[in-house]
Amino acid sequence: PLVLGIETSCDETGIGIVRGRTLLSNTIASSMDEHARYGGVVPEVAARAHLEALQPAIDAALAEAGVGLHELDAVAVTSGPGLAGALMVGVGAAKGLAVSLDKPLYAVNHLVGHIAADILTADSAPLEYPTIALLVSGGHTSLLHVRDLTTDVELLGETMDDAAGEAFDKVARLLSLPYPGGPEIDRAAVDGDPDAIRFPRGLSRASDLAAHRYDFSFSGLKTAVARWVERCEADGVEVPLADVAASFREAVVDVLVTKALAACADLGVPRLLLGGGVIANRRLREVALSRAEAAGVTVRIPPLSLCTDNGAMIAALAAELISSGRHPSTLAFGADSTLPVTEIQIAEAVPA
Ligand code: ATP
Ligand code: MG
Ligand code: FE
Repeated sequence: PLVLGIETSCDETGIGIVRGRTLLSNTIASSMDEHARYGGVVPEVAARAHLEALQPAIDAALAEAGVGLHELDAVAVTSGPGLAGALMVGVGAAKGLAVSLDKPLYAVNHLVGHIAADILTADSAPLEYPTIALLVSGGHTSLLHVRDLTTDVELLGETMDDAAGEAFDKVARLLSLPYPGGPEIDRAAVDGDPDAIRFPRGLSRASDLAAHRYDFSFSGLKTAVARWVERCEADGVEVPLADVAASFREAVVDVLVTKALAACADLGVPRLLLGGGVIANRRLREVALSRAEAAGVTVRIPPLSLCTDNGAMIAALAAELISSGRHPSTLAFGADSTLPVTEIQIAEAVPA
């Protein structure tokens, strides 16, 4: 099926067009620059930016794919989770488009969409089930057990406080680096020693593991970096930026990879799928690949353009739902900022 997907859960206005498992276009307009001076995404600004960016993005995606609106078999949209106001813009647009074109509409889960991005990864064998999936982005850090993308996604654990990307952004700010912090810290860490400072690995003590084996916590790590910076200032010495950045990054990467591989081992699943904008982190990919290999686990990493928020992954998920015979969504859904990952499709119609 030819599907157009709309993604507006955060600061990226994403329009993607797929034909089945083939990617035809993936247009992304980001309002990131507008948020930079606030040090984080401002929901109201993001929502307005979506409203302005949507129509041009749809036009651009159609042109790039070389298809017309009337050729579409379905429209897909992110219903949640994400910023409520931002989601509402996409949901409203998708409903309007589907009704006016008289096409079926599929409302889907953003987090499951991140996993569906794998489907569009050219030249790779189809995703094998079950797989463990680690989603690390600015808003989420979740460990999932995926038995089937369209029917069975289980949440094993998630962050109890900050998301991993959020931790990168907050620590960058502590180090007087610009937003978004992930790439800045990656750069600053190049010449640093990852073992210079032993920063805490959240929820990794034996006493924590009993109840939080697959959960994450990054706020203690952030505080530890803040204390370190304060101590340098109090002592009147310059903050060793490269070492702090490298040691912080190592702590985040270590805990992400350790917990993901623990899930693979515990559940006997030798497959790990990575997704989300933090996957751009070179050290994370390096450590994940080498430790997984040692553990006999196969790692799949989609290209970065499909790891960060985009509409193609939303269209891909809807195409899978259509191919597996699912009914379209009714119009009885809205934006759900806290939609659980287990709800893959929202408001599926019950046939008479
Ligand atoms: P969500 O996907 O949860 O809705 P989001 O849209 O903010 O949230 P993404 O766009 O997937 O998330 O990722 C953005 C995050 O990725 C930011 O927090 C950014 O700092 C982080 N990031 C980007 N590049 C890197 C990098 N090289 N290393 C670490 N983090 C990075
Ligand atoms: Mg983003
Ligand atoms: Fe996302």
